[in-house]
Amino acid sequence: MLGKGSRLYSIFGMKCPRCHEGDLFKTSNPYVKTNEMHETCPHCGLRYERETGYFFGAMYVSYMLNIAVFVTFLIAYFLLLDQYISGAVLMGIYIGLTLVLNPIYSRLSRAIWLNFWQGYEPEKRGTR
Ligand SMILES: [Zn+2]
Repeated sequence: MLGKGSRLYSIFGMKCPRCHEGDLFKTSNPYVKTNEMHETCPHCGLRYERETGYFFGAMYVSYMLNIAVFVTFLIAYFLLLDQYISGAVLMGIYIGLTLVLNPIYSRLSRAIWLNFWQGYEPEKRGTR
């Protein structure tokens, strides 16, 4: 399921959506130069930012990731934790977690956005 050819491999491995070989980001640590991406895939040459503002759409993906985590928090709270901690503490934990995980959300959302528009084509070369 997470092998080459799977979108999940590209997304969670931060690999090029077309060849699944080249890295998307210049550093593997999301807390260092969070959004600094290679201009093109080092392996197949795919241009990552297809047009100016291309990654604007990744903001919506990031928003959806945040909502998913928030809903998960709410469900966990009402099913498991409501007799142990208050809602205010839960919100504090959620906000703290969101701030800490923001670089990871940012990278994941870009990888998801790229995979939304580009499928696995390992033989193809060039910027498009
Ligand atoms: Zn590539």
